[in-house]
Amino acid sequence: MAFTLPPLPYDRHALEPHISAETLDLHYGKHNQTYVDKLNGLIEGTDFADQSLEEIVKASEGAVFNNAAQMSNHDIYWQCMGPNGGGEPTGALAEKINATFGDYATFKQRFTEAAVNVFGSGWAWLVQQPDHSLAIKTTSNAGTPITEGDTPLLACDMWEHSYYVDYRNARPKYMEAFWSVVNWDYAAAQLG
Ligand code: FE
Repeated sequence: MAFTLPPLPYDRHALEPHISAETLDLHYGKHNQTYVDKLNGLIEGTDFADQSLEEIVKASEGAVFNNAAQMSNHDIYWQCMGPNGGGEPTGALAEKINATFGDYATFKQRFTEAAVNVFGSGWAWLVQQPDHSLAIKTTSNAGTPITEGDTPLLACDMWEHSYYVDYRNARPKYMEAFWSVVNWDYAAAQLG
């Protein structure tokens, strides 16, 4: 069965003024849709056609992996932002962040640094590793921590299409925007 692009979990204007409707129209409406369409074209008539997205991501390489992983990465990314986002995590996630990184400010600084320094196109992640510890990771291109057995808690898209319309080349400004809309409820719900 063919994959479909999941609905954006909020209105295209919902992240303004931090992330514009124009960015969402291009990023979600065009780039993300293209990954879905390309994936469907590539897997039609192959063994992948009956597999879940996660199964494909874990078992594929080349163009199938690139499009499947980008579909998976964006599914996570859209949920990591929201109109009622921003602020700091609470509860068990806050305790884990504090225990791992010292405090929230240190975590935020280290995540931002990692994200801004992704070379070329890629992603920044907060993950829970198989031993349940937290870590900040980055991946190149379509790379996803799912293939390492990690559980993504937070994903930040560092491809230029995420920020070029709103912030041109200013990645630090995009990161400020990301923190203004970050959806800690989503991240907390992924904790194992
Ligand atoms: Fe993207």
